[in-house]
Amino acid sequence: MGQTAVPAPATDWKKLAQALRAIVGDRVVWRAEDLRVYECDGLTGYRQPPPLAVFPRTTAEVAAILKLCHQQQIPFVTRGSGTGLSGGALPLDHALLIVTALMKQILHIDLGQQRVVVQPGVINNWVTQAVAGAGFYYAPDPSSQSICSIGGNVAENSGGVHCLKYGVTTNHVLGLKLVLSDGETVEVGGMVAEMPGYDLTGVFVGSEGTLGIATEITLRLLKTPEAVRVLLADFASVAAAGAAVAAITEAGIVPAGME
Ligand SMILES: Cc1cc2nc3c(=O)[nH]c(=O)nc-3n(C[C@H](O)[C@H](O)[C@H](O)COP(=O)(O)OP(=O)(O)OC[C@H]3O[C@@H](n4cnc5c(N)ncnc54)[C@H](O)[C@@H]3O)c2cc1C
Repeated sequence: MGQTAVPAPATDWKKLAQALRAIVGDRVVWRAEDLRVYECDGLTGYRQPPPLAVFPRTTAEVAAILKLCHQQQIPFVTRGSGTGLSGGALPLDHALLIVTALMKQILHIDLGQQRVVVQPGVINNWVTQAVAGAGFYYAPDPSSQSICSIGGNVAENSGGVHCLKYGVTTNHVLGLKLVLSDGETVEVGGMVAEMPGYDLTGVFVGSEGTLGIATEITLRLLKTPEAVRVLLADFASVAAAGAAVAAITEAGIVPAGME
């Protein structure tokens, strides 16, 4: 991690920027001062600015970018909102940074089937905001949910305070449209919970950006609970608080969240 020991590949970055502009227009960042913004994620102890950053808006643009990278043997790193705490969006090895922040459309909402299809740059709590009025919500709630992207949540298999009862991201992702590192577009999973064959959706969720780029994500929605009660208790010691947590779960009570 940190400054890479691998020498820069002999890439002509100016030429690559031109080729990328042919795909995405002016959505290519190349000035050193602008690229500083992308030199790290939430793990700020490690920094390396990318040589270029590109901002696709569609699956077709992502596929064209990855085909170009594949032809020219250029490494790439995907970045959602850059809130990750493990350096996953750090563009080591002079990688092209592919930022999904402009892929922010909610493509399809199906309240009957309790499904929503989103682009990867959609922010986690936008999903709940989009369906809350109809009595639904999206359960995985990392503490960063007002800024982190669904694509990043998928890659990190993120969890949050409600995961004790409702499960982590992998329990709520039903299908994915993916662009693989050679530019091929594939679909795994779908709108139904159990698809026949290998669980390739499950393989991708938590793979930290190593298997390709998710460009469309089908999520499960839950019905908003009819009532919510919040209890606050204080304890004389951490051990007493821990014992209370154990006693609650031993009694078969699964709270929506417990901290
Ligand atoms: C204040 C704070 C609180 C946090 N709380 C939690 C928490 O409660 N629970 C938790 O799990 N995490 C938490 N995190 C960590 C972080 O927010 C999550 O891991 C989040 O899912 C990262 O999303 P992101 O959009 O910022 O992803 P990024 O940091 O941009 O990327 C993370 C990884 O995902 C990959 N990636 C991004 N988009 C795609 C895509 N479309 N396809 C394939 N790979 C992709 C990147 O290459 C990278 O490896 C917290 C972080 C902060 C700063």
